[in-house]
Order: sequence, then structure tokens, then C-alpha cells
Amino acid sequence: MKDKSNRAMIIGGDKHQAGDKSKGNLSWREMDKAGIIRKTGNAKEYKTGEWRSMKPVWKKDICKQCGMCFPVCPDVSILVDKEGRVTGIDYDHCKGCGVCVEVCPFDAYDFVKE
Ligand code: SF4
Ligand code: SF4
Repeated sequence: MKDKSNRAMIIGGDKHQAGDKSKGNLSWREMDKAGIIRKTGNAKEYKTGEWRSMKPVWKKDICKQCGMCFPVCPDVSILVDKEGRVTGIDYDHCKGCGVCVEVCPFDAYDFVKE
């Protein structure tokens, strides 16, 4: 999280000068280039669903457990049990793309605004 806090200080930038290491700051030359992922498998550490504007709402009583939805979720956000039955949605990571809503043949998802 060191990178994150340093970056936030530079963006905020009104109190500290860039390069002032005594304040935990970095110059632009010392900053990471944007988009570099240094550690694989780190997506679970972030709540990537925070920018979602729409969300699917699973209707348990209507779901026929046909299994069409969870293989197509790009974020692996449809929760299933050991038998492969849908049990809900991981809203920390669902980005609200609506693919699950589109593929469900039984209309077992509502798609609503956040
Ligand atoms: S809306 Fe998209 S990301 Fe969210 S559960 Fe459905 S398929 Fe996955
Ligand atoms: S596609 Fe629809 S009916 Fe099939 S498992 Fe998913 S929510 Fe249930």
C-alpha cells in the first residue's frame, strides 16, 4: 500500500512538494508507470465492484439452476456451491456488465441501478 499512499499524496499535492521524502512523497521520476501489475492474483484484494452503476439481483425462487450464467461472468462473481448451484452474487467484484442478465433463459435476474 506504500505506492498507493504516495500516489495519493502527489495527486493531492497541495501541502507537500514532489520529491519531499521526509513527508513520504516521491518525485514523478520515482513513481510507477500506470497500469503495471507487479503481483499476480491480486484482484481479490480490491473491491472492483465499487465503480458499478447497475447491478444484477438474483431471484432465487425463479432460478432453475440451469448453469448458464456463472460460466460467462467475466469477474467470476456469481457464487456457486460445491454442487454447482447458484447461491448469490459477489457484489465486491461484480462490475455490473449485465452478461448474466442477458444469458439467463428464465429471467431470474433483475438489473437495477445502484
Ligand atoms: S453483471 Fe457481469 S460481472 Fe456482475 S455477476 Fe453478472 S456477469 Fe458477473
Ligand atoms: S442462468 Fe438463470 S436460471 Fe440459470 S442458473 Fe443462472 S440465474 Fe439460474
